[in-house]
Amino acid sequence: MHTISDATLLAYIEESLPLEQMTNLEVMLRQNGDLQSRLRELIAKRESGVHSIGDIWRRHRISCPTREELGSYLLGAMTDEKRDYIKFHIEEIGCRYCQSNLSDLSDSHHKEAVSARRKKYFQSSVGRLKTEG
Ligand SMILES: [Zn+2]
Repeated sequence: MHTISDATLLAYIEESLPLEQMTNLEVMLRQNGDLQSRLRELIAKRESGVHSIGDIWRRHRISCPTREELGSYLLGAMTDEKRDYIKFHIEEIGCRYCQSNLSDLSDSHHKEAVSARRKKYFQSSVGRLKTEG
């Protein structure tokens, strides 16, 4: 069974999970009593101030990969270990901060790729025109 981390549950409490993950978690919560009690426990701790959500997220943010690392992740230019960590961080923890960073980066990668393709196409059309003309 898929295990849900405290960080994910806290993110759920804070409503900072991606919508899809939030929906999935709600389904799991409905079916899983253990998960429900973990959630209740976390809510209680949070309310009693044992774990301030700010502290946890600050700690979590420190573990966020840098933009350079996210760029390398996109290009697949890193060790498996590091890639697994970032994948976990983004897909399992669902860190919104890194998700938006990553989509921003992949957008610009995409734009670069498109403009490179366009340039190539343009050059080859020009080349063809020259030989055909
Ligand atoms: Zn992050």
